[in-house]
Amino acid sequence: MTAIALLPTVAALRAQVRLWRDAGQSVALVPTMGALHAGHISLVEQAKQRADRVVATIFVNPTQFAPTEDFSKYPRTLEADVAKLTEVGADAAFTPTAEDMYPEGFCTSITLRGPATAGLEDRFRPTHFQGVATVVAKLLLQALPDVAIFGQKDFQQLAVIRQLTADLDIPVEIVGAPTVRESDGLAMSSRNVYLTDEERAVAPMLNRCMTRAAQRIRDGEALEAALTPARNKIASVGFEIDYLEVRDAVTLASVEGRYRKGLRMLVAARLGRTRLIDNIEV
Ligand code: AMP
Repeated sequence: MTAIALLPTVAALRAQVRLWRDAGQSVALVPTMGALHAGHISLVEQAKQRADRVVATIFVNPTQFAPTEDFSKYPRTLEADVAKLTEVGADAAFTPTAEDMYPEGFCTSITLRGPATAGLEDRFRPTHFQGVATVVAKLLLQALPDVAIFGQKDFQQLAVIRQLTADLDIPVEIVGAPTVRESDGLAMSSRNVYLTDEERAVAPMLNRCMTRAAQRIRDGEALEAALTPARNKIASVGFEIDYLEVRDAVTLASVEGRYRKGLRMLVAARLGRTRLIDNIEV
């Protein structure tokens, strides 16, 4: 196993990427907030298929958390993360500090409409996508990769990033990778460590109810008629639902009626103190 390059600053990242570029090699970027699990690792594997060199970024971005959210207790496991990245064969880990990303006097941010105001995550986390868009734009401009890989797990985020790179002419291909799940269907998430044993036992109901509702929709049932029992079931096992909706998979616009091609079911729900999100193709 070759050791990966640890790049703690933007200058170190740029110097490393310059060396690869000079050698004619292509570069893929995998942005993460660390606490890496098999979902993140699958993004690195996809990246390796698509470029000669892979940089994973580990940065718990303060600006995408609201003051009431879990920034300070978000899991930080840098040593284990670097070991996992080494094992999967990433070439470098970019681990900037908040001071490096947001130096004294930093005052620019990116705000989008369109997918960022679809009325899903943005309804419950109104400042979230401004933080995500700004940090992702920075990471893309710092690394200038050929391709960047993001998970479909954060489906609205993926749409926001596609819109952002198109609107700002950032020359990068954005790839959306499928959600990696535990064997019982729960979408892997760094936040799953917050779940108590009882909550962990209930958590797969989210995906199970969505899968059932999606099947009923494909079988011809009206969207709302299929979603209502799913909402009731999810609530009855102890979730507080923020939303469970079917949307257009590209624009995230609201849809009505019955099945057609290109629909996505998205959910966000709180179980105790943990907020889970998931989505599936309908
Ligand atoms: P995070 O560290 O949660 O910000 O996630 C970093 C990247 O990994 C994002 O592009 C996520 O969408 C992606 N990701 C998170 N969980 C999963 C999963 N279970 N399967 C695939 N990708 C994921």
